[in-house]
Amino acid sequence: MYRAGDVRVENVPDAAVVNPTDALVRVTRACICGSDLWPYHDLEPTEKGRPMGHEAIGVVEAVGAQVRRLKKGDFVVMPFAFSDGTCPFCHEGLTTSCVHGGFFGFSPEIGGAQAEAVRIPLADGTLYVLPVREDNALAASLLTLSDVMGTGHHAAVTAKVAPGKKVAVVGDGAVGLCGVIAAKRLGAEQIIILGRHPDRIALAKAFGATNVVSERGDEAVEKVHKITGGFGVHSVLESVGTEQAMLTAVNIARPGGAVGRVGVPHYPGIPAWEPTFYKNITISGGPAPVRAYIAELLPDVLEGRIQPGRVFDRVIGMDEVPDGYRAMDKREVIKVMLKP
Ligand SMILES: [Zn+2]
Repeated sequence: MYRAGDVRVENVPDAAVVNPTDALVRVTRACICGSDLWPYHDLEPTEKGRPMGHEAIGVVEAVGAQVRRLKKGDFVVMPFAFSDGTCPFCHEGLTTSCVHGGFFGFSPEIGGAQAEAVRIPLADGTLYVLPVREDNALAASLLTLSDVMGTGHHAAVTAKVAPGKKVAVVGDGAVGLCGVIAAKRLGAEQIIILGRHPDRIALAKAFGATNVVSERGDEAVEKVHKITGGFGVHSVLESVGTEQAMLTAVNIARPGGAVGRVGVPHYPGIPAWEPTFYKNITISGGPAPVRAYIAELLPDVLEGRIQPGRVFDRVIGMDEVPDGYRAMDKREVIKVMLKP
């Protein structure tokens, strides 16, 4: 991406093993993320362009001399952040705070996943080897373990979803939809989706949403209170990242409730300090440590109990990537899968 709205497909030097802890992964499936739409709107012009993409599954083609856990031919999930797997935060399951870690799709040194191949730093800690073959029919759902399913799960975990709880999901993008899956999986009794796109609402219902609120702002807050006996919800999964979405999240949380934020915040401060204090609301969430969640979510994907891959409603080739951004930005599609 060279600037807002300017996505190009270009030949660049081949990704390769640079450090002895690297692996080289041939990308079999990648995708465009809702968070890629932020720079699509506001990236300042750059001369060299920014490599894009941070979600992929693929096959290990080469490993550096110090890589121990992986070998050529392994079919792997690449989480959107790399991590060493050995530092205090990795041990605590917060791999996105790894002291040696970082994010894909920001700099030419690390590269992006919307590519034929990608260099994976700290490969032993970063990559998760899948117990299935490359051509597995579950590819779409496995791909979501790279980001959106793990991120939706993180929203649910940090919003303290548990059996019998009333839950609201703010946002009907792929992460919000995966948040519905996660909330149901964790035993929520009521799951309210706040969104307004018919195709997304239909999928949310298929994933387990029990109520739909299509209003916005104060009207949305009022409606959520109405369908929760006047008190609001125990858990709010905030998957958007705007001030309006966060304000709604805080206002629909009941006293003692929790908000799990996974939408990248585009506001200067947490709005509505007063209700957050007087209602004893926990505000949590952040970049999801998806690497730490794969082991828990994978069996449900492999055995078909959850189908997060249904969020992909368009498959494109490499040449169509610029149009993929356009289609996601125009909300023509929920999420685009890339088959390089
Ligand atoms: Zn670490």
